[in-house]
Amino acid sequence: MALTTATAIINLSALKHNLAQIKSLAPTAKVLAVLKANAYGHGLERIAHALFSEQAKINEHGHSSTTADAIAVARIDEALALRSSGITQPIVLLEGFFNAKDLAILAVNNLQTVIHNHQQLDALLTATLPSPLKVWLKIDTGMHRLGINPEEFSSFYQQLTDSVNVQKNIVLMSHLGCADDKSNQATRQQISLFEKVTLGCNEERTLANSAGICAWPASHYQWLRPGLLLYGVSPLPFESSTANLFTCASENALQNTDVMLNVQPVMTLKSSLIAVRQLAAGESVGYGNAWTSKQKTIIGVVAIGYGDGYPRHAKNGTPVLVNGRRVPLVGRVSMDMITVDLGMNAQEQVGDVVTLWGEQLSVAEIAQCATTIPYELLCNITRRVQITLS
Ligand code: PLP
Repeated sequence: MALTTATAIINLSALKHNLAQIKSLAPTAKVLAVLKANAYGHGLERIAHALFSEQAKINEHGHSSTTADAIAVARIDEALALRSSGITQPIVLLEGFFNAKDLAILAVNNLQTVIHNHQQLDALLTATLPSPLKVWLKIDTGMHRLGINPEEFSSFYQQLTDSVNVQKNIVLMSHLGCADDKSNQATRQQISLFEKVTLGCNEERTLANSAGICAWPASHYQWLRPGLLLYGVSPLPFESSTANLFTCASENALQNTDVMLNVQPVMTLKSSLIAVRQLAAGESVGYGNAWTSKQKTIIGVVAIGYGDGYPRHAKNGTPVLVNGRRVPLVGRVSMDMITVDLGMNAQEQVGDVVTLWGEQLSVAEIAQCATTIPYELLCNITRRVQITLS
């Protein structure tokens, strides 16, 4: 069937497959699935329901191998949208709350909160709440974005533990800034500082984002916090040969070999050819005449542009699949269209299917061609893009 508009095809089986792959890497850990920013563009409610869609199968470590254990979002509105859609499972606010009056909303909706600064601590300790909140205490171990200073930890921890507004079992957390670089010593330093600060505290801990999960088994602890990896994209630097199949460091120190992880892209972005035209040698295409053909060729015009979330800065040569055939983007990306060089012997026709990223073409490769990261491309899908489930 010919597509006429940009469509993001969401493959929920791939999502479940990726979750199982992540769980297989660290079978003793639970998964806090990161669904902020509309589940990285995949649809917040849709992804949440899929992650809890089946009966949890409990593995020998007492954890579900088929469902997530909790969801993380950044802000209250995202959490409330999940509650309105019928999600009853634990939800954690990664940025916590910004106003003391929000604490009542958290309590009523059974939302868990990260505490990362003094204002939040004071508001929580002095609030009158209908029920105590579950708290995740965030320590800054070197990223210097959110988190309390390591030397403040004992005081924060003690005050939280003593408060009637806080449930028992506080989770201790920090965030890794450079985990995608396997040779960067900053991650080793963050792990050892986290160890040192939390030493002797008999609480659950969490440190690993997707890159930590893949490259730093020492960061696994009791909770993994995957975002990108759940959506089937490697968090490690893009290498064409290893887009979906890549090696991860083994959790088992005795097992000195790497583990292969095979993830499947959850989003495939497609559109179609809306024009096919001849170009003579020396003729240019698109705004600013930014690309000029050296020879006679055939240009395909695809119904997708930055108005759909395709990156404006994708360079000439960025790969596009037309009927599965890899061809280069040429000329500037415009709001509704891009142009590709189909070559002088092209057989493609108006209506033929074009894949911009996803199956067969990693969004990480497109991100590299646009000097950005896959996170940004996935999040930037606009409302004009139709969503269908595969
Ligand atoms: N944990 C925290 C605190 C985050 O802010 C994020 C995302 O930025 C994640 C985990 C997930 O990161 P990733 O998508 O790289 O797995």
